[in-house]
Amino acid sequence: MDVFEQGKKLIDALRAGQSLTFDDFLFLLEHRNGEIEAYALCAARRCAEANFGRNIYIRGLIEITNVCKNDCYYCGLRRSNTNCRRYRLTDEEILSCCHAGYELGFRTFVLQGGEDGGFSDERLCALVRQIKALYPDCAVTLSVGERSKEVYQSFFDAGADRYLLRHETVDEAHYGHLHPAELSPKVRKECLWNLKEIGFQVGSGFLVGSPGQTLAHIACDLLFLQELRPQMIGIGPFLPQSDTPFGQEPAGDLELTLFLIALLRLGHPRALIPATTAVGTLQEGGRERAILAGANVVMPNLSPADRRKDYALYDNKLAEGAEAAESLEFLRARLSAIGYQPVVDRGDYREK
Ligand code: SAH
Repeated sequence: MDVFEQGKKLIDALRAGQSLTFDDFLFLLEHRNGEIEAYALCAARRCAEANFGRNIYIRGLIEITNVCKNDCYYCGLRRSNTNCRRYRLTDEEILSCCHAGYELGFRTFVLQGGEDGGFSDERLCALVRQIKALYPDCAVTLSVGERSKEVYQSFFDAGADRYLLRHETVDEAHYGHLHPAELSPKVRKECLWNLKEIGFQVGSGFLVGSPGQTLAHIACDLLFLQELRPQMIGIGPFLPQSDTPFGQEPAGDLELTLFLIALLRLGHPRALIPATTAVGTLQEGGRERAILAGANVVMPNLSPADRRKDYALYDNKLAEGAEAAESLEFLRARLSAIGYQPVVDRGDYREK
């Protein structure tokens, strides 16, 4: 069997709902060529369309704080970055973002931030309760990092529906290359299993092309997601942020990211997979290409406009045009140009 035939066989197996092994994933990653890519992307696009039509779910992303106690080497919000102008939104500001978002047609609010002690667990619970009381037809997604199981349970009891926590990389040594010693992939994974057990719709994912990453690491990430079966999967290219230790490292590869989105779509047909801001930032048109590779979610920025540039995870992060919640019409036009449309819907995970 030639390489394409072998690759095609694995992609077909994934599409048929079969699990792949580490060697299978590694084979696909190592032998990825134009032909295999085209086959995977085409199958993934059809899979997304069969499951979701040409609908794209939209989430209003509110970046509630850029204060962070962690020191991840890739992230511009790391505590050692003294060039970051720190902010913390007030509850009033967050609620007014929700109000604006609701008017625009958003039915999911994502509250994301650094691990900021200024947002106590109680404060977050109260905030979630308030949002759910004001907008009972909306979903609330939290993305505020690692907490104990008890705290996650209290978020859930307050009404939070979903939780985003990328595992970033599953390989222990590689995790140690991207994070200081006080952070461990074991804790990260434990958090994800706890979130699942509690009943959240859980989102995980990893960085593509982060410093030191090998194709074998990525194969492990795909395998881990196959095991975790998260309802949402967010991946995006690593992009350097100049004030971090990785500021001079090259960005992740767009074609590889698209190929991975396609494999994830095929292996997780009902998952909510965003065309991330990072993909759109890496290349003009990246967002659309991600959608055509099987992504079905976009998360425009709903943060107060004057704070957006301070949530600088990486350099040149897009927060305008189609990435800005208030420019939903612009996003609609961009999506319509490729035959898709944003929908006013919570966009929950559903098993068929
Ligand atoms: N503190 C929260 C939210 C982190 S920001 C948490 O730990 O989950 C959301 C995501 O941005 C991270 O999970 C990471 O994958 C991504 N990110 C951070 N720095 C990045 C960079 N330099 N390039 C690309 N993505 C980055």
